[in-house]
Amino acid sequence: MKQQPSPLPDTLPQTDLTRHRRLRDQGSLRRADLDAILDAGFVCHLGVVVDGRPLVVPTVYGRDERQLYLHGSVASRSLEGGTPVCVTVTHVDGLVLARSVFEHGVNYRSAVIHGIPRQVTDPEEKLAGLRLLTEHATPGQWSYARRPNRKELAATALLALSLEEASVKIRTGAPDDGDGPDAELGLWAGVLPLTSAWGAAVPDPRLPPDIAVPEHIARREGTRHG
Ligand SMILES: Cc1cc2nc3c(=O)[nH]c(=O)nc-3n(C[C@H](O)[C@H](O)[C@H](O)COP(=O)(O)OP(=O)(O)OC[C@H]3O[C@@H](n4cnc5c(N)ncnc54)[C@H](O)[C@@H]3O)c2cc1C
Repeated sequence: MKQQPSPLPDTLPQTDLTRHRRLRDQGSLRRADLDAILDAGFVCHLGVVVDGRPLVVPTVYGRDERQLYLHGSVASRSLEGGTPVCVTVTHVDGLVLARSVFEHGVNYRSAVIHGIPRQVTDPEEKLAGLRLLTEHATPGQWSYARRPNRKELAATALLALSLEEASVKIRTGAPDDGDGPDAELGLWAGVLPLTSAWGAAVPDPRLPPDIAVPEHIARREGTRHG
């Protein structure tokens, strides 16, 4: 029987890479906050150095308890693995409009993950990782859609990045200048919230009219994303 790896610690590590230096009050060391940020989205930005130059690529992800999975074409230079990367996931919750321009800001939840991703070659893990990725963006879709065949699997690169070395920052609430001298200016200040939500599913125009939107897709209409 395969031995289950122990769960990652509840507290995020403070390493040379993850230690917050600026805006430290916005930092969180709770792994539960990291998990919630990852689960609220499905697009990350993968930062990697290719041929000595930084490249930041938006891409979808999935995850299990210990690692993030990223996929793409085997031809992608950003998905070669084996070199240090930095992945960020960002959710913007609102604009913080202060009395002074200096104090303007953003309410947000964001995560930064540092590590050296591993190229997944084991066919069983590759399929499991692709299932996590598919289900993360659209729960129910792995069992609905046709799964990748051998040729498609061979054309797909899958990277696994450990969630061990990660950091989280969260800002909530009002502007910071409500009790400073600028409060006397008589200007409006506050937060302009931003939300994003799923719309109604739009059928492919070539779809025969008797094929209905599956329940696992239809039920997301109007629900919040992020
Ligand atoms: C949507 C959005 C807009 C922002 N706009 C601005 C802006 O205009 N100006 C500005 O100064 N800051 C902004 N921030 C905050 C910014 O992301 C940084 O946290 C901040 O600038 C500190 O940067 P630094 O390089 O000094 O970080 P440092 O404190 O030196 O970073 C050290 C380590 O802390 C971690 N870390 C840093 N930032 C984050 C983060 N956001 N989330 C999770 N981990 C993090 C990383 O692991 C990093 O390696 C914004 C954040 C978001 C999400």
